[in-house]
Amino acid sequence: MNTVSVKEFRDRFKTQEDCYRFLIEQKWGSGFKCRKCDGTKWYKGKQWFYRRCSSCYYDESATANTLFHKCKLNLLTAFEIAFRVSVKKKGMSTTELAREFGCQQKTAWLLKAKFQNAMKSSGKYPLEDAVEVDEFLVGGFDENQPGRSNERKQLVVLGIEKVIDKDGHETVGRAYAKVIKNGSAENLKPFFEEKVSKDCSVKTDGWRGYLPLKKDWEIQQEVSNKGKNFKELHTHIMNIKSWLRGIHHKCKGHRLQNYLDEFHFRFNRRGFMGSILDKLLIRAVQLEPITYKQIIKSELNT
Ligand SMILES: [Zn+2]
Repeated sequence: MNTVSVKEFRDRFKTQEDCYRFLIEQKWGSGFKCRKCDGTKWYKGKQWFYRRCSSCYYDESATANTLFHKCKLNLLTAFEIAFRVSVKKKGMSTTELAREFGCQQKTAWLLKAKFQNAMKSSGKYPLEDAVEVDEFLVGGFDENQPGRSNERKQLVVLGIEKVIDKDGHETVGRAYAKVIKNGSAENLKPFFEEKVSKDCSVKTDGWRGYLPLKKDWEIQQEVSNKGKNFKELHTHIMNIKSWLRGIHHKCKGHRLQNYLDEFHFRFNRRGFMGSILDKLLIRAVQLEPITYKQIIKSELNT
């Protein structure tokens, strides 16, 4: 299987220095540019992994303005957590991470929330060709009261690409999911805009929320027959739900969208597991870092 083992990871990142070198290469490999004055000349900063701008003397660490900025864990541990959450098939709950790496759960939670943010789809690669779309409800998980359902259920819209595998069987190519307020066309449209190419042919059930979207997409509606006419789509829904159940009872609180993003980041790269860690680490450097406050705010909005 095309994946990376813990041994391979530890051979590649043996020390903190190896992690700093990776960040330096990603940040400044194609040339230094000062964030303050755009200057391109630099000399060594206060530590070997800092660069100081020759024009304005701004001294920047390799971790500054990356996801690892102000991380309470040492860099090697943070890299190993990135490895675990990206490569491990079912991901890892914050409780498991805290136990394994001997840190506080809050620290593990914050770092994982930041990685989940980096796992969000770029929106650049919408689903193509034969696409199926459906909505489903998720909810009723509460780790403090197992079996009880006092959390409101949330509606999710899911799109999959139908492809034929090498044995000639119909299967799921890529997939995306988005939490929506309700099944109205107004709520469905942003998902279509971002995730469904206008050139593809879409199949949905008979729900009227899809009707107004026919103006812009080629949509064919078919009775679901309790999911029998959308077999692969419904298998995918069951896989998402069972993963959420497995991870939720161990997670304190959750933001469903982030878990859906995490699930699909891995799912859509399941054929390229050898490069999935690099993909996540590169995004950790390129994306504007998200703060604890921003995470809590986004939690309140979903
Ligand atoms: Zn400068």
